[in-house]
Amino acid sequence: MSKSQIRSIKGTQDILPGETEKWQRLEQMVRSTMDTYNYKEIRTPVFEKTELFNRGVGNQTDIVSKEMYSWTDQGGENLTLKPELTAPVSRAYIQHNLGSKQPLTKLYYIDALFRRERPQKGRYRQFHQFGVEAFGSENPEIDSEIIAIAVSIFKQLDIKDLRLKINSIGSDVCRANFKEELKIFLKPHFDSLSETSKVRFNKNPLRILDSKSEEEIKLMQNAPSISDYWTPDDKAHFTELCNFLDAMGIKFEIDHNLVRGLDYYSRTTFEILSSSLGAQDALCGGGRYDGLVEMIGGKPTPGIGFAAGIERILLASAQEFDENKIKLYIVGLGEKVRVKVVELAELLRENHIPCDYDMLRRSMKAQLREANKMRANYAIIIGENELEKSQIELKDLTTGDQQKVAMESILSHLKSLSF
Ligand code: AMP
Repeated sequence: MSKSQIRSIKGTQDILPGETEKWQRLEQMVRSTMDTYNYKEIRTPVFEKTELFNRGVGNQTDIVSKEMYSWTDQGGENLTLKPELTAPVSRAYIQHNLGSKQPLTKLYYIDALFRRERPQKGRYRQFHQFGVEAFGSENPEIDSEIIAIAVSIFKQLDIKDLRLKINSIGSDVCRANFKEELKIFLKPHFDSLSETSKVRFNKNPLRILDSKSEEEIKLMQNAPSISDYWTPDDKAHFTELCNFLDAMGIKFEIDHNLVRGLDYYSRTTFEILSSSLGAQDALCGGGRYDGLVEMIGGKPTPGIGFAAGIERILLASAQEFDENKIKLYIVGLGEKVRVKVVELAELLRENHIPCDYDMLRRSMKAQLREANKMRANYAIIIGENELEKSQIELKDLTTGDQQKVAMESILSHLKSLSF
């Protein structure tokens, strides 16, 4: 009796050949862009103490309250698969005292995350992000730089219909005053609010600004604006940021309803959207978290970062990728040449010439078909005749031209060709 098939977990994806090339390209592009802006890579463990996220992301967030993959291990420790990267990177920043080595620490990551969300197109339970976290500066230069990094990457990927929204949620004083005013505004409408917003009204009224319900979006259009509660310093910070973005030629929209709900967030928030994505249209979200490092046990340190979803970026990216990596296919004919083919393939590979050959012992026709399928530029044909004369036939698969090359000069001959 055949055994039942085991399938992958809901909300996770296998990334197969054909797709992985796109991932590699994106990752290489992210890395080289990060090098250009002088950000260094950090890698943190796949799991952390649950407490890190309780404190560093916050119990009232959807992520922590509903979506974490948490368990107690055999030693009684409460552990969680990382649902975001800012808290783990901040933990590592504190633990390794990175600030003492560099007053401004600029880090980036490319990583997998886990959230138990309702899967749909563009929303998964294991997904991937790249992002940056910069610690040590309150000044808006760094805010503008990290926005520029995100925009630069999306542009290089040819993503259409990009929209950058920015806002400032001000400093602590500003937010405290604003929250009170917001509650006064919302109170007469309390009964008509959704259950989620009713809870937020008491715990975190700022997040009602972020509501996805159409009625509430309409209601919030008449709500007080956070910009009216900015301190002079908040205003100066935001104005400078806008000037820097203008100077870099980066277009943006100001949206005063773009908020981050947690207490340790301050001032700059931003989001990059692409209308080519449909419902899950956010490519990247970021903001300043000047209170976070202190919240998880470090010295007060300003910080700012963003995280961008790789699956969504690949859905939105119009860029075609050329998957042709194998330049050369070796066609071997007959039993006697097998050793020669193995030897030659290894010689070419040692010399960094990507090549492949037939291990299924097929006919010449089938082997050439395979070479064409791989979109190889050249085929090396070796039959028993060629072996005796110590030469090969080199076939240009684009033009069909064929020439004889002496075995001992193959390498130098191939190196002189431009693939
Ligand atoms: P967040 O960490 O929630 O601020 O999300 C940052 C970015 O990660 C979003 O803009 C999305 O592009 C992406 N993202 C968030 N949640 C998911 C998910 N469940 N599946 C795929 N991408 C996601």
